[in-house]
Amino acid sequence: MDIVPTELRHTRACLLCSLIKTTDQFEADGCDNCEEYLQMKGNRDMVMDCTSSSFDGMIALMTPEDSWVAKWQRTSRCTKGCYAISVTGHLPKGIVQELKSRGIQYRSRDTSTNS
Ligand SMILES: [Zn+2]
Repeated sequence: MDIVPTELRHTRACLLCSLIKTTDQFEADGCDNCEEYLQMKGNRDMVMDCTSSSFDGMIALMTPEDSWVAKWQRTSRCTKGCYAISVTGHLPKGIVQELKSRGIQYRSRDTSTNS
């Protein structure tokens, strides 16, 4: 499946894994890495909460298994696609708690602040 953004306008980056897709793609398919946890599919409010339109840089990840990008992003099971280097914003507290209860430590991709 081709998950490269179909257009560069209206793109958003997932706050959990920094995958970049369009708002419509997130709403239609959820996040390819995080759908299990974020359940954005068909839920535009969740898409707005869990993705950010403010991000910097873009890297293409084509061979997740042995990619330095995957190692650098500290995630081993990354789907192929485009990833943001820095994403501005934070997941809602409730979702961070939910992730924690599932054993997932959320690390903000926001490098614009130190908080
Ligand atoms: Zn994601």
